[in-house]
Amino acid sequence: MEQPLYDRYQRKINYLRLSVTDRCNFRCVYCMPAEGIDQCNHQQILSYETFYSIAETAVALGIEKIRLTGGEPLIRKGILPFMQRLNDLDGLKQLVVTTNGFNLLQTAKPLCDLGIHYLNVSLDSLKADRFARITRIGTLKPVWDGLILADSLAIPLKVNMVVMRGINDDEIADFAALTLKYNWSVRFIEYMPNADGSKHERGLSADEIYQRINSLYPLEKISHRQLAGPATNYRIKGAKGTIGIISALSCSFCSSCNRLRVSSTGILRNCLFSDQETDLKPYLDNNDLTGLKEAIIANVDQKPEHHTVSWDKSELPKLHMSKIGG
Ligand code: SAM
Ligand code: SF4
Repeated sequence: MEQPLYDRYQRKINYLRLSVTDRCNFRCVYCMPAEGIDQCNHQQILSYETFYSIAETAVALGIEKIRLTGGEPLIRKGILPFMQRLNDLDGLKQLVVTTNGFNLLQTAKPLCDLGIHYLNVSLDSLKADRFARITRIGTLKPVWDGLILADSLAIPLKVNMVVMRGINDDEIADFAALTLKYNWSVRFIEYMPNADGSKHERGLSADEIYQRINSLYPLEKISHRQLAGPATNYRIKGAKGTIGIISALSCSFCSSCNRLRVSSTGILRNCLFSDQETDLKPYLDNNDLTGLKEAIIANVDQKPEHHTVSWDKSELPKLHMSKIGG
């Protein structure tokens, strides 16, 4: 590894999220319009070889953790052998995936065998009818059964719930109670306004989520581990698992943000909400690995101190989460 990668605010950048596809088998209300999004054509989507070059270059620059996201990463053909290759990269400490869990019954065992560090599974309701409404075309049973299978294989699990007022916020306590039974990290994510014109009013702040849980189950704060991500973590006394609250919008983690994102078409973003993008494709098409490295360093150098989207702002970021991977 060369020198660790720092931005101009002295944040160490060691975490890369690769959105390996913009395709998805769900249409979650907070992420995509009902009709889906305009998909990129196959030529625009980076090949695994190309993603591998980005990952290899990034790891050589100091990236220690890679997350595969999407769209739905586990529906892309060939994803498991690709992950095996990534996992063998010298210098990479953690390889993780964010998935909607629909294919977990088929993929949990191979993911376990290749040594996945942990899995993030998105789950926004424990009620089958509501789950179907939120995901529009998803079904709860395979996701839940997949989670239980992954748990039985001892894959560390993080369950991500996007909290939406009037849609699933009455299930906050049920999700928190999962940690009494399972050794999972259940994480409550502040709803983020999206390019589909969805409303800020739908969101609950991290504070409100905390109060709701704490009033029923008093929470103890627990310490932050290295490479652990943006959640503030708690435990209900005596619980097996932990609770994380991710204040994506309240901006409490910008000061320690360590991440970069690459879209399925090779667009590098230094902040989820920023329009400051670098197209990596020309470097990859020309096999210009020096140019690629310099482009990544230059993009890191431009990483903003914090994002500017807030609860009281009416303007929306121009992004679809399924294109950049959340
Ligand atoms: N398909 C995978 C999944 O659902 O886990 C990975 C891609 S998804 C875009 C990545 C993450 O973004 C998920 O945890 C999802 O809940 C989150 N996400 C998408 N739209 C969001 C929104 N409007 N607000 C907060 N989180 C969002
Ligand atoms: Fe698909 Fe994940 Fe977006 Fe849901 S959140 S539509 S599962 S990409």
